[in-house]
Amino acid sequence: MAVERTLSIIKPGAVARNLIGKIITRFEEEGLRIIAVRMIHLTEAQAKSFYAVHRERPFFGELVAYMMESPILALVLEGENAIARNRELMGATDPSKAMPGTIRGDFAVSVTRNTVHGSDSTETAAAEIAFFFSQADLFPRAS
Ligand code: UDP
Ligand code: MG
Repeated sequence: MAVERTLSIIKPGAVARNLIGKIITRFEEEGLRIIAVRMIHLTEAQAKSFYAVHRERPFFGELVAYMMESPILALVLEGENAIARNRELMGATDPSKAMPGTIRGDFAVSVTRNTVHGSDSTETAAAEIAFFFSQADLFPRAS
C-alpha cells in the first residue's frame, strides 16, 4: 500500500448544518491526516468546472446549484490507501444505500445533498487537489 493524498469536500448542506466538526472527526479517527484546508464559496463557473465530468448527466444543474448554495470546506487527506479509505468512510453516493456508520449513511439528506465528495482514483485526486490547492498549501511543505 502506498501513502496517498485525496481531496475531500464537505458540501454546502453539511457546512450549513454545522457538521464540519463531526465529519472531520471521522477522518481523524480513521487516522487520515488533514494536510490542507480551505473554505470557499464556489462560483457557478467553478462548480461547473469541478464537476465537468458529469456535465451531460440529468442531475448536473441540480448538483451545480447545490454546490453554490453556501461555502464548502475543501480538505486534503493523507494516509496509506487514503483514496479508498475515504470512499469507505463516505459510504454510497445514494444515502438510502449507504451503510449506517458512514458519513453519508448518518448525515446525507438525498443523493444530491449527500454531504461529502471524495476523489475516486489517483488521477482524479491529483487533479482535484490542484483545483483548490497549490503545492505550498500542503503541509508539511516538500522543501
Ligand atoms: N448526484 C446526483 N444525482 C445522481 C448521482 C449523483 O445529484 O443521480 C450528485 C451527488 O451529489 C454525487 C455527485 O453528483 O455526490 C457526483 O456523482 P458521483 O457519481 O461521482 O458520486 P460520488 O463520487 O460523489 O459518490
Ligand atoms: Mg465521483
